[in-house]
Amino acid sequence: MVTDTSWLRAHLRDIADFPVPGVAFKDITPLLADVDAFRFTIDAIADAWAGDTINAVAGIEARGFLLAAPVAYRLGASLLPIRKPGKLPWEVAEQPYELEYGVDAVQVHTDAAAAGDRVLVVDDVLATGGTASAACALLEGLGATVVGVHFLLELGFLGGRATLGRRDVRSLIIET
Ligand code: AMP
Repeated sequence: MVTDTSWLRAHLRDIADFPVPGVAFKDITPLLADVDAFRFTIDAIADAWAGDTINAVAGIEARGFLLAAPVAYRLGASLLPIRKPGKLPWEVAEQPYELEYGVDAVQVHTDAAAAGDRVLVVDDVLATGGTASAACALLEGLGATVVGVHFLLELGFLGGRATLGRRDVRSLIIET
């Protein structure tokens, strides 16, 4: 079981004013580029859920895919992509969510999950929680159970955890 994850923070890079002025973007590419940090991240997320029955790991486009795929492999689970509108080629379910200015949405194939499936949702950063809660609502709308939601980094000061309600939300690093 993981005890100390604080050293991982040094492998995340803060980029000021990206992609728009005022946003402090958390760049995970240094972590992906470091063999020990990347392996530790994947193992830590997978180990956290090893005692649960997980059929599928849902990755949220796009950086969530980079973490969800190896976690799914480690858990012996399938991989389920949650995508932005217009990317998935087959029949989709869509869930809109509010941004600071306007709305966005996420989609999933309608046959990606069904009643009885137990899904772990993975993404890189928890900010306001809108994206992840929309992803959970999509999966739950298909009848699946969201066993938990795991982030590499949680921007705790934005309160996104509250948006996810009673779901089991975990983060390797919490920035306060
Ligand atoms: P939110 O819906 O506000 O929780 O935003 C989470 C989604 O947007 C995740 O898929 C993140 O990859 C991305 N995101 C939001 N804020 C940041 C940030 N400061 N740095 C990097 N990615 C972010």
